[in-house]
Amino acid sequence: MPKPFLPVPNSTLPFWLTDRSPLDQIRSTPDLPLESDIIIIGAGYAGISLAYHLLTSDPSSSSEAPTITILEARSICSGATGRNGGHVRPDTYSLIPLYINRYGLDAAREVAEFELSHIKAIQDVIRTEAIDDCDFLLTQNMNVFLDQERGNATKEAIEALRKTGCGFVDDIFQIPDRDAESISGVKGAKTAFSFTAGSIWPYKFIMGLLRSILKHGGDRVNIQTTTPVTSVTSDGSIWHTIATPRGTVKAKKVVYTTNAYTFGLLPEYEPAIIPAKGMVAHIVSPTDGKGKRPPFLSQTYILRPDSSDGADYMIVRPDGSIIIGGAHQIHTFPEKGPEGNSEWYGNIDDASLIESTKDYFEGYMQRYFVGWEDTGAVVEGLWTGIMGYSADSAPHIGAIPSRPTQFIAAGFNGHGMPVIFLSTKGLAQMILHDKSFDDTDLPRIYKSSAERLDAIKRGREGGDILQSVTVSSSE
Ligand SMILES: Cc1cc2nc3c(=O)[nH]c(=O)nc-3n(C[C@H](O)[C@H](O)[C@H](O)COP(=O)(O)OP(=O)(O)OC[C@H]3O[C@@H](n4cnc5c(N)ncnc54)[C@H](O)[C@@H]3O)c2cc1C
Repeated sequence: MPKPFLPVPNSTLPFWLTDRSPLDQIRSTPDLPLESDIIIIGAGYAGISLAYHLLTSDPSSSSEAPTITILEARSICSGATGRNGGHVRPDTYSLIPLYINRYGLDAAREVAEFELSHIKAIQDVIRTEAIDDCDFLLTQNMNVFLDQERGNATKEAIEALRKTGCGFVDDIFQIPDRDAESISGVKGAKTAFSFTAGSIWPYKFIMGLLRSILKHGGDRVNIQTTTPVTSVTSDGSIWHTIATPRGTVKAKKVVYTTNAYTFGLLPEYEPAIIPAKGMVAHIVSPTDGKGKRPPFLSQTYILRPDSSDGADYMIVRPDGSIIIGGAHQIHTFPEKGPEGNSEWYGNIDDASLIESTKDYFEGYMQRYFVGWEDTGAVVEGLWTGIMGYSADSAPHIGAIPSRPTQFIAAGFNGHGMPVIFLSTKGLAQMILHDKSFDDTDLPRIYKSSAERLDAIKRGREGGDILQSVTVSSSE
């Protein structure tokens, strides 16, 4: 029997989806269009921002603008994007040393600078498209280590980056270890440093982009939710046939923005993009006077509670409530290897929680944060989401090998917010103008290629538990 590959019904309810837009279940027309120049499969951050760039990046040639159809299995932004931690945190130190080892300094630097450039790009599009309701906050991300050795190792890695002339490291402010606890507000903090990062209401951001798509695209855009794609076939003509339970659509170009679910439609990506289930909580404090008012935390956090690879990621909502995810050290069982727990690894079921982790966030703020002991803060909501882990850590962007006029933007790990918006801008250039990947400004290691897929397949067949599965497990 073929492995199930479609997003499941009755998924857990994230805080982000408790205030739905009227466009949530949009169907632009009662029936599917017969054909479209471009079909985008998946309406998460990647699919919606790609459509936005296709419509806005080249306004001068709007007379020849293509028709675009977006097919989404569930509702808009119901996948990882609508279930994530809301953290917009460019990586300036976590994976960069790994990339330097694997691909060299220049390639690693491209990734760090590309991620950092998202801070401005996201602010710009929020301003230009007036997406005022998405609660974007620009702040600092406080990285806290409770294990001294692990903190020391990270400090050394950052210093090594500084010595190689990586200017982006200048954004990192190292707090003296003696002040780590008082400045971070985390009990027992041994090491802490901070750098520029943001937080956002991801669903509202995507819905804002969707409103802009409808405004810019008019009747050139057709969006169909609750329309899962079950296959894509090509007969050598200019048309691909996209099958759904509601009928078929023909398209000249097909783009897969299906992230964790990519393996179902593109089996050659199965070893490269691995579904991985994560869990996130919404923590609130009572407002009825039954607890002490908690101190407002004005920064986002990464908290590394022990000597393992684990990390918890946390943002603070404008109302003072907390969105927190992570707990990988609990459910990944590093000693068994990443495949040791099918509760999360290779799991596409976001309708259930991760049993081994579900109590982890209860009492979290009281355990770790100074001044929260008597607040009565409790977990109000708990949900799961499915990440698309990239086996070699980098996302896959660009033309799909051996499938002419088909494209991909997927494999964004637990770390898509400072990666996807500009990745899809580059992809739009390839789709609209037949540009090659190498002629875009995208980091070179994001390019999807036959060589990369082969290397991953060989590595996995050889039993190589790829580093990314643990390294990229935290946001
Ligand atoms: C629990 C969790 C916490 C995270 N926290 C953060 C964070 O704080 N910061 C951060 O930067 N990143 C975080 N991430 C990662 C981030 O959310 C993702 O990288 C990003 O949302 C990926 O966007 P996407 O559009 O590629 O995928 P998705 O948002 O998953 O979109 C893919 C869409 O494709 C649809 N689809 C799939 N198959 C089909 C099909 N056959 N037919 C039609 N439609 C289909 C799905 O229904 C889905 O809507 C987190 C992810 C998770 C799961």
